[in-house]
Amino acid sequence: MVQPISAFSRMGEENAFAVLARANALAAQGRDIINLGIGQPDFSTPDHIAEAAIKAIRDGHHGYTPATGTLECREAVARRTLTTTGIEVSPERICIVPGGKVTMYAAITMLGEPGVEIMYPDPGFPIYRSMIEFTGAAPIPVPVREENGFAFSGEEAASLLTDKTRLVILNSPANPTGGVTPREEIAKLVTALERFPKATVMSDEIYDSMTYDGEAATSLLTFPEIADRLIVLNGWSKTWAMTGWRMGWSIWPDALFDAMRKLAVNCWSCVNAPSQFAGIAAIDGPQDDVVKMMTAFDERRKLVVDRANALPNITCATPKGAFYAFPNISETGWKAKELASKLLEETSVATIGGPDFGILGEGYIRLSYANSSQNIERALERIGTFLAD
Ligand code: PLP
Repeated sequence: MVQPISAFSRMGEENAFAVLARANALAAQGRDIINLGIGQPDFSTPDHIAEAAIKAIRDGHHGYTPATGTLECREAVARRTLTTTGIEVSPERICIVPGGKVTMYAAITMLGEPGVEIMYPDPGFPIYRSMIEFTGAAPIPVPVREENGFAFSGEEAASLLTDKTRLVILNSPANPTGGVTPREEIAKLVTALERFPKATVMSDEIYDSMTYDGEAATSLLTFPEIADRLIVLNGWSKTWAMTGWRMGWSIWPDALFDAMRKLAVNCWSCVNAPSQFAGIAAIDGPQDDVVKMMTAFDERRKLVVDRANALPNITCATPKGAFYAFPNISETGWKAKELASKLLEETSVATIGGPDFGILGEGYIRLSYANSSQNIERALERIGTFLAD
């Protein structure tokens, strides 16, 4: 029998996709599914962005672009980076990639191998650990605790650094918790990194424009002391409601950029040309739709927290970023994945069990509030009725 190399047996999954498939299958049977599972904005990509791609196709932009993206698109990313972080980054260090995940794949496979350690947030985006295990590197979870407002503790993260640490993965604002790590905590870790010069940092900043209550996301770019070993993951998926376009960007240190370019040449050649025109329009065009989307997310955030806290034996911290709430269900008597599965099968509400994001996710479920206020109300009502039975 043919089979892939054994590393594939260590590769994990993103259960949100399995939940989405099950939710869609139930919906196809006529069930009134409310999906609080999937992590994608329920808004359409703004018209002017879509029009830029359509125009690019009509104008004949059908060919390959440079593997790392067109200069115009990389320059747009550099402009946006300057606006959001105040840091000037050369387009020569920017790579346009087919979705945020690709940067994760590239960074982890470039640096992971047996004998080294890679730190990653737990609970956190499941693909970090999946890819770390794939490479044979040792996964070292950095706890993200509710009592710290779902931020990682700089001291705790620093205590996990060793001479074997090859890569440290950070994510703020965070999936699945909505936590935003304060600058002082990040600064503590950055200071500790001075003693570990071989450790690279990958900062996943894909939710950088999604914060609430005046909270600011801190970019790792604003720590010049690690500029020569920092990879920034970002992209269009969340900010401009473009998950299906598969458009991301990454910023690389000079020492790693050529490896990234080679990976692009070997693997995807380039991101499709019309999408790169859309990417420029997203960055340079009006941001009114982004503001409208964030206003809606903010309203729903308050609603979901309010309704979740009214449920029996559930408490829900107010998320500071992204579009997820991570209610604590440990007092309900349910295991989180079992509860999520029952909620889908019996109440037609899709959620994700916390353990799908790591061991420390037990006791929580993730609710994505990328759904209408009306649906959020209905979903939380159904969950309440289920828990009361
Ligand atoms: N990083 C985090 C923290 C995410 O939550 C996601 C998507 O959910 C990604 C990266 C991947 O984004 P993309 O859909 O652009 O690959």
